[in-house]
Amino acid sequence: MFADTAASYDKCVLRNYAPAALTLVRGEGARVWDDSGKCYLDFCSGIATNSLGHAHPRWVAAIAAQAGRLAHVSNLFRNETQARLATRLAAKAADTPAGAGRLFFCNSGAEANEALLKLSRLHGKHRRGIGGRLLVARNAFHGRTFGAMSATPQEKIQKGFFPLLPGVDVAVFNDVASFEKLMGPDVDAVLVEPVQGESGLAVATPEFLRGLRTLCDQHGALLLFDEVQTGVARTGKFLAFEHFGVAPDAFSLAKGLGGGFPIGAAWVAERHAGLFVPGSHGTTFGGNPLACAAANAVLDVVEQEGVLGAIDRNSAVWLAELGALARRFPGHIREIRGLGYLRGVAFHTPSADVHALLRANGLLTVPAGDNVLRLLPPLTVGADILSEAASILAMTLEKL
Ligand SMILES: *Cc1c(COP(=O)(O)O)cnc(C)c1O
Repeated sequence: MFADTAASYDKCVLRNYAPAALTLVRGEGARVWDDSGKCYLDFCSGIATNSLGHAHPRWVAAIAAQAGRLAHVSNLFRNETQARLATRLAAKAADTPAGAGRLFFCNSGAEANEALLKLSRLHGKHRRGIGGRLLVARNAFHGRTFGAMSATPQEKIQKGFFPLLPGVDVAVFNDVASFEKLMGPDVDAVLVEPVQGESGLAVATPEFLRGLRTLCDQHGALLLFDEVQTGVARTGKFLAFEHFGVAPDAFSLAKGLGGGFPIGAAWVAERHAGLFVPGSHGTTFGGNPLACAAANAVLDVVEQEGVLGAIDRNSAVWLAELGALARRFPGHIREIRGLGYLRGVAFHTPSADVHALLRANGLLTVPAGDNVLRLLPPLTVGADILSEAASILAMTLEKL
């Protein structure tokens, strides 16, 4: 074990994060252990990435086998694991209203959204000879790279980085009329999250997404869904937009796709796929055999171990438990939000203290916005683990 972790962070790691005073050294399933041997129930899941929990045997075996065979070759050559992953994701999308499409693989959520932003510019150029505007929603989160950050209208994220990418206009989430007001022939695309993950777990209404689809169709704009947090079964459907029956022109995936291994993907509908030609976009690492092997292992477990059905059943029970907590502690809890295994407990006041108390009581959680505590279990946990988390929450709120 490395003895000077805290000191090394103090001295050698850039201070763009403020990590908890906690060094995690090992994980198994839904549990992680720190360097003092204390065990935690991990409902942070690496911010919705560890779909299968920690050290899932099938995921470990797939990565180990692929690392020993072929890890990286670049996109100058074809590789079998990328072919397999693309085929499987294209088939998933084809089972939804989205229909036929193609995949681009990259390494993160922001990078997947950059591909969508480049698609929107290519679409404008193709249609009108010049790229135009992008409409996004207030409180959206699309990532930290310059393009994705420019599409993330939050002061705390953009502060210090002006000038940003021009041509991004901001409307109100779940308010079609506010998008309609900003719509025009120069709008290339509308980009939204089906559930606003980072900013407090607001869930889109079916009317909102349907209204955006109609609006985009009327004006020839693309409808882009950021499924970086919601995708890969997190909400109880493989893709969150399946809850709403609305087809996007393109969508992004990342967090849960690799089960903790970095990989992102952009899916583009077949009718727009021709906008990308050799040379129009690229990435050195994207879609390498190792990352795709990790993602294929996640899909194997999701498909073969009945994960979607289990999330559907368990999350109903869990929601009832969380609802009971909200009724028991109305002075603290405002409401329960989210879908499936993407849940938020919204407090009346900032919830930073609650995170720290929960951590002391052995439950790791993630903030979403100022007042919301996000609960992100591995997709593979059953009702027993969900209840255990609800009990720790109850015990913590009793003493608040
Ligand atoms: C996390 C997230 C991103 C950014 O993903 P990174 O992998 O951190 O670049 C983008 N969009 C949404 C909805 C996210 O939750």
